[in-house]
Amino acid sequence: MPEAVRIDGKGFADGLRARIAAAAEAFALHAGRRPGLAVVLVGEDAASQVYVGAKGRACIEAGIASFEHRLPATTGAAELLVLIERLNRDPEVDGILVQLPLPEGLDEQAVIAAIDPDKDVDGFHVINAGRLSVGQEGFVPCTPLGCLMLLRDHLGDLSGLEAVVIGRSNIVGKPMAQLLTDANATVTIAHSRTRDLPEVVRRADIVVAAVGRPEMVRGDWIKPGATVIDVGINRLPPTEDRPKGRLVGDVAYAEALGVAGAITPVPGGVGPMTIAVLLRNTLVAAHRHAGMDAPSGI
Ligand code: NAD
Repeated sequence: MPEAVRIDGKGFADGLRARIAAAAEAFALHAGRRPGLAVVLVGEDAASQVYVGAKGRACIEAGIASFEHRLPATTGAAELLVLIERLNRDPEVDGILVQLPLPEGLDEQAVIAAIDPDKDVDGFHVINAGRLSVGQEGFVPCTPLGCLMLLRDHLGDLSGLEAVVIGRSNIVGKPMAQLLTDANATVTIAHSRTRDLPEVVRRADIVVAAVGRPEMVRGDWIKPGATVIDVGINRLPPTEDRPKGRLVGDVAYAEALGVAGAITPVPGGVGPMTIAVLLRNTLVAAHRHAGMDAPSGI
């Protein structure tokens, strides 16, 4: 069996970001302002600081205005809601993202609920979850939408394919299953209580692993020729030659390479798609707010 194709998420995301930059330029010429994304970070969580920095840089590179609001961990709910209300009303702001997790004591659901659903470019608001569920235009969470883009790019039409999504979180597993269903795949959602997970995975033409357990999906769980999308990002404990610890996905990559038809690596697969789709959602939001049709091919 030939080795699996490595799905180049980084390359796809770079191309998408270039198309977004061109469309953002055209938007600015027409609307007289740039698309704008406000990112709210509460507290000093190290990983969140890195993500917020990366999002800000990606915005600037794509010609999207970035408004960062870094608040101390002691910020109260009322203060945070006042900021969100201000951003909801700000005509320069097309997208609002509140970086999760929030410090203890702040109710994430209440904060997300305060965001104007038409600026909720993360797609986490219940209104957007509902819109996705009934097939209305809204915003779809960035990671699963990025996975769908990679699948469509690699496989084309997904009609009739058996898809197994492992994980049922609101931000990855559930919207992923919805997107695959809408793309006419036959979808199974597997989770921590699924019986005989290897056997369930073995029937899949498409496997999306979003669990958060290093290399849980073994090579012999995968149907020969299947397409594997590995959402997991897990850092292994540090070793002498890798003092920061190696990053691995939820799939045993080396094993899967010998069985799958195609697979996303970690890093360099799904990860880079998430920020690119965030920029895409912000660009789409800007077009909707300006009463313009969203550009095609993005
Ligand atoms: P989560 O913890 O909210 O959900 C994990 C899901 O896995 C749960 O629904 C649970 O039922 C299921 N699960 C747990 N143990 C299981 C088992 N033994 N067998 C089968 N299913 C099991 O996680 P999440 O937010 O959906 O993230 C999942 C992974 O994806 C994490 O590694 C996270 O870091 C990564 N992630 C990556 C990106 C990206 O940009 N690439 C974005 C979001 C999340």
